[in-house]
Amino acid sequence: MSYAMACIAVFLGAYLINIFYITVFYHRGLAHRSVTLKPWTRRFVIWTGNWVTAIDPKAWVCMHRMHHQFADTLLDPHSPLHSGLWNLMLVQLCSYERTLACLMKGRQPYIAVVRDLEFSVNWLNRNRLWFLPYLLHAMIGFAIGLGSGALLLAPAYWFGIMSHPIQAWMVNALGHRFGYVNFKNSDNSKNNIWVALLVMGEGYQNNHHHQPQSPKFSVKWWEMDLGYFLCVMAKSAGLIEIKPWCA
Ligand SMILES: [Zn+2]
Ligand SMILES: [Zn+2]
Repeated sequence: MSYAMACIAVFLGAYLINIFYITVFYHRGLAHRSVTLKPWTRRFVIWTGNWVTAIDPKAWVCMHRMHHQFADTLLDPHSPLHSGLWNLMLVQLCSYERTLACLMKGRQPYIAVVRDLEFSVNWLNRNRLWFLPYLLHAMIGFAIGLGSGALLLAPAYWFGIMSHPIQAWMVNALGHRFGYVNFKNSDNSKNNIWVALLVMGEGYQNNHHHQPQSPKFSVKWWEMDLGYFLCVMAKSAGLIEIKPWCA
């Protein structure tokens, strides 16, 4: 395998681990419960999620449920209609920080939105150690790079595993601005084929906002939800159950 191919393979592998956590465990599992995490899977995700993705599972779920509740209104934590396309990168980061702070201070309505989640904000965030996952993955990246003698594998790994802000920006910004609709929702959600391909089905925002309880984000035969495919794989590995869904 050429050097460039090895870098791409490592990047994609790390990217896949991140998106697997986010779309299967955080989004379809914890936020919408359209898939059910087996008890030990759930404990494992709560324990490892922040380390793997650098994103707190409780804060992610809280912010995401608020996005559904207030989609594209002024109360939406990340709508491109109010913040602009590029500025949304900063807006979603600020919203995440605010959500974390409000959860830790026990503020309403944040607490009420995630009342069903029995676990607290991760200790990394409670102890202002949010940067440790970034360091850990930098060390893992360097170990891979030095161990293989191919140093560029280090940034390939690091950018892949820490890619959530970019994935989120694509979904939040492009998925609420550009694309087609299958349903007349009260928000500006769109189905964006490119984002759906790059972010494992998450680009079908119009479908997803119409039926957030569905484990599958595609509705037309030609729409491909790779995240649902990950769910099917996770089910066959005994990690989750997929709830039956009728549109
Ligand atoms: Zn959305
Ligand atoms: Zn959702």
